[in-house]
Amino acid sequence: MQSSSLAEKILHSVRKSIGEGPAKLHEPTFDGNEKKYLLDCVASSYVSSVGKYVDQFEVELAKFTGAKYAVSVVNGTAALHLALKLAGTNSGDEVLVQGFTFVATANAVAHCGATAHFVDIEDQNFGVDPLKLAAYLAEITTVSDGLTVNRRTGKIIRALIVMHTFGHPSKLDELLQVSKKFNLVLLEDAAESIGSFYRGKHTGTFGLMGTLSFNGNKTITTGGGGAILTNDADLAKHAKHLSTTAKIPDKWAFRHDEIGYNYRMPNINAALGCAQLENVQSKLELKRILFKKYETEFSKIEEVQLIKEPMDCQSNYWLQTIKLNSPDLNTRNEILEALNSNGYMSRPGWDLISTLQPYKTNPSMDLEISQKLFNSLINIPSSSNLIQH
Ligand SMILES: *Cc1c(COP(=O)(O)O)cnc(C)c1O
Repeated sequence: MQSSSLAEKILHSVRKSIGEGPAKLHEPTFDGNEKKYLLDCVASSYVSSVGKYVDQFEVELAKFTGAKYAVSVVNGTAALHLALKLAGTNSGDEVLVQGFTFVATANAVAHCGATAHFVDIEDQNFGVDPLKLAAYLAEITTVSDGLTVNRRTGKIIRALIVMHTFGHPSKLDELLQVSKKFNLVLLEDAAESIGSFYRGKHTGTFGLMGTLSFNGNKTITTGGGGAILTNDADLAKHAKHLSTTAKIPDKWAFRHDEIGYNYRMPNINAALGCAQLENVQSKLELKRILFKKYETEFSKIEEVQLIKEPMDCQSNYWLQTIKLNSPDLNTRNEILEALNSNGYMSRPGWDLISTLQPYKTNPSMDLEISQKLFNSLINIPSSSNLIQH
């Protein structure tokens, strides 16, 4: 089969699934109380860092995810930065990060003065491979004073950040075991996985902390925004404190007991978030229907696979993904060209972070599967509004 005709077949399948374009990759929808709550902020003058919607959003987020606490912040990267700080990440430490993720995951590590150390992922759920990781750590680390040290660099490996790629949960039980065995703090970058569950429990609630993003392209949006999820009361309190310039509450004095950050989510963003969260269930249902439509069409094409939620998991289907059975960059690019030039916004996976200029010399295990996936994955239009309701 010629690859050009594969691109045609894929274009045809997308058209049959969602109708004539144009279609964005992921578009937010505002069909609830968004305007009402935003107008309420303006009318009350509470648009900035104080206001009732921040508290309400945090309560509702905790309720939806099942985390004991949720602390909202200005974006997902800031959430990761704070979570890493609170996990005890020091300048000079290493933190294990997927080589195949959005650059923010590694940037947050660098913002702590630490070094992102790249690890490979699995072929089906695109999450960190627990077996490969355990074998690698057994080979390159030694334990000293209850801490795991990279023998090659002499640095402490402090934490493992697991990411739930495109909304598909990673193997959390196995990854928790590996973390425990090697004295690593497990953190979850759940930026892409609000509404995704692993064995019935929401992603982002397994590690010491999990982080969310509410950027405009995510499943629900606050314009820009993020949150830290945790079951630990002290960590939640400390996260709030650090995000609020570490200011000690007082009638009027400006006293700060640490170097804090201006990371609080403004009330106007939280207002948008409250309205979005009220409709998250219906967005998730529509995204699942979209998956089924694509599944019907793509099951007819032998050369590709539409990525389905892992066993025992419920994915939010944030981004629908097709994968070439024979990874090939030229074929991938031909398909991207055919889809985008016909108005169906589609994107490749991220360039591996280990290949980006600022991260080229960072430590890394072999990233064979990540590289294969880079050559074979394409995200296709995934917005909930592609299904009429
Ligand atoms: C979106 C995203 C983030 C955070 O992004 P912000 O734009 O800072 O909210 C972090 N990690 C991953 C994997 C993401 O997709």
